[in-house]
Amino acid sequence: MKTILIVEDEEPIRQGLRDAFKEDGYQVLLAKEGLSGYRAVLEKKPDLIILDLMLPELSGLEVCKKLRSESNQTPIIMLTAKSTEADKIIGLELGADDYVTKPFSVRELLSRVKALLRRTENKTEKHEGVKKIVFDDVKIDFTKFKAERAGKKLEMSKTEFKILRFFVTRSEEVISREALLDEVWGYEEYPTTRTVDNFIVKLRSKIEKNPKIPAHLITIYGVGYKFVA
Ligand code: CA
Repeated sequence: MKTILIVEDEEPIRQGLRDAFKEDGYQVLLAKEGLSGYRAVLEKKPDLIILDLMLPELSGLEVCKKLRSESNQTPIIMLTAKSTEADKIIGLELGADDYVTKPFSVRELLSRVKALLRRTENKTEKHEGVKKIVFDDVKIDFTKFKAERAGKKLEMSKTEFKILRFFVTRSEEVISREALLDEVWGYEEYPTTRTVDNFIVKLRSKIEKNPKIPAHLITIYGVGYKFVA
């Protein structure tokens, strides 16, 4: 069952959407303002977010921007009372996937949600499809947890495999430390971002020709890291 998070401060709309999505077979989470909505995304990991633009505390745009800057790619449909082109463009630039202008038909919103979930599923399958990678003299098989360099076995821990696979599936994308913590460690055990840096140092010592001048696990100052094959 897919989980939809609805972030909307107007009670009648929130309750109306909850009923409609429940009836359509979704599990529904609700938030009344931006900050609690943002937290719910991190804690409950919904499959999709219906995000109102005008929200108290943290606006829908700010929530969207914050999530994307942390490499959180949960699909977002923005709800807005404004229908000017400028607002649409700003929203989409900040990483929303789709747009619905109030007043909207619930049927239309439901069908947009369905379509977006389908699009996202295809993307995820592609991401999970990365099984092996070869670069320089390094060969890694993520399905067998095997790695070698110049024909010799490379000792790597499960966590190191997990981190590297996350990078490889998102090649060339900048990954924040927070996104890595979320993906690799989850939110139950929450090590510090320093832990991530230590793992990157270890990984570099294994896969880089010159760990001091990395060519594959590259630091993006102030943001995080990215992998380049
Ligand atoms: Ca509102």
